[in-house]
Amino acid sequence: MSCGASPRDHHPIRKKRQRLSPVLASPRRLPDFPVFIDPPDLTPWENGNNGIAGVIERDSGRPGPEITVVSLIHGNEFAGALAMDRLLREDIRPICGVMRFVFANINAFRHFQPNNPTASRFISEDLNRVWSADRLHQPSGSSEMERALELLPIIQRTDLLLDLHSMLWDSTPLYISPSTRSSIALAEMLSSREDTQFLTLTDLGHMGGSRLIEHERFISPGKSRGSVLLEAGQHWQQETVETSIRVIRLFVEKAAHLYFDTSRAEHGLTCHATVTDNIVARSASFAFTRPYKGGHIIESAGTVIATDGDDEIFTPYDHCVLIMPNLCVRRGQLAVRLARRL
Ligand SMILES: [Zn+2]
Repeated sequence: MSCGASPRDHHPIRKKRQRLSPVLASPRRLPDFPVFIDPPDLTPWENGNNGIAGVIERDSGRPGPEITVVSLIHGNEFAGALAMDRLLREDIRPICGVMRFVFANINAFRHFQPNNPTASRFISEDLNRVWSADRLHQPSGSSEMERALELLPIIQRTDLLLDLHSMLWDSTPLYISPSTRSSIALAEMLSSREDTQFLTLTDLGHMGGSRLIEHERFISPGKSRGSVLLEAGQHWQQETVETSIRVIRLFVEKAAHLYFDTSRAEHGLTCHATVTDNIVARSASFAFTRPYKGGHIIESAGTVIATDGDDEIFTPYDHCVLIMPNLCVRRGQLAVRLARRL
């Protein structure tokens, strides 16, 4: 199904199959993903230095924003944690204000096993779906909810947030930001160098619940607060660590400029797309017509990109960006998100 608002000039996305389309034989079980990086040794940071485990705080002693970099919201995505570990060892510090580095789901991370690398994403539930006021006010029923509540006082003080993630399937890096001006300005700031210039995506939220970047702290309009999620590349590639390092450095260097110069939020993004449709597999035989890489652009509207049982899935407009296609999707799961370049 496609959910959310679709612009009127959309072509239809799903039609009954008229003929046999060429279909990629999609694997029914996940392939083996090689792990090219070793998990970081988090011993120096596990206890934290401000009273919360896994939270390292560095205060410049000068007035300025409170900025937070988060890794390991997903326990098996440790490229961001490797980047943070390296920068902490190099003694990275904020120019003004307070900087915090958060290693979020350390419990899940501890269960990482290279021969089953996708299993340690979380212990009982996804830590990136629990950040709505509703969920945070319910009694904690999982290891992840407990951790969210433990981290909440930090989130509630954060002016600018960078949340580090990575992707299972091969894809070009991208930023995901709430569609508030200050978050988009933050994404633009992070895209301001050639080697950190990636597509910025605004979207319909996540189907499963609120992500950390959507915590009310960051989405209330008119405040100089913002959040961005970085999808830095494939989970276990060295390049993903390097990309994370470049983006964190830029974030720490430039956050104060953004915080004090609110006129920046008036600028438009040069490389921006918005998600129009979430395509969910309705059948057990959903298959893409090619092994698409995330970030791939389909030039023409009406191109068949997948079949799903008796249906074909078409691109609804020209220059359609495929966001994180899941090449091994199961029935009921999100197969791909479609985004329109703005
Ligand atoms: Zn993630």
